[in-house]
Amino acid sequence: MNKKNVVHSKVVEQATSEALQRRGVELIDIAEIVHEMQLPYNQDLTLERCLDSVKSVLKKRELQHAILVGIELDELCEQGKLSEPLQEIIQADEGLFGVDETIALGAVFTYGSIAVTTFGHLDKNKTGIINQLDTEKGRGVNTFLDDLVASVAASAASRIAHRLRDEEEAIDSQYD
Ligand code: MG
Repeated sequence: MNKKNVVHSKVVEQATSEALQRRGVELIDIAEIVHEMQLPYNQDLTLERCLDSVKSVLKKRELQHAILVGIELDELCEQGKLSEPLQEIIQADEGLFGVDETIALGAVFTYGSIAVTTFGHLDKNKTGIINQLDTEKGRGVNTFLDDLVASVAASAASRIAHRLRDEEEAIDSQYD
């Protein structure tokens, strides 16, 4: 591979955070979901720690790439730039489309089974800002974005679960 053509990780990380901001998603909104998911298991868990976890998982390429692809498709769809019938399918956020969930689900695998089951829970229950994004229909296209937010939240929640145990056992965490 020609090294000149490789995009630096910092560029990808920056683009990801700009894309989320542009779409109205603040990291604290995601941290609140993480807090709600993990509080039953860790009564002392602070929102600040959840925010740190969200920032950490956003350093992972799997998540960055999924976010960039999904938001790009949402935005191109908003601009009417996709070809038919994909334009109409994404615009309508058709329930059977499923590619939005698949891309987001694929991005959580780094964080193991807790991330997968938490993602499933969030996809179904649409906690916090996920619900807001899902019901914002008519005000832009968020077909991919709601699932991507669930993906970040699920990863950050799983990361916390594993790290808390690792701290209890005073071992180096497997999930950085
Ligand atoms: Mg969706």
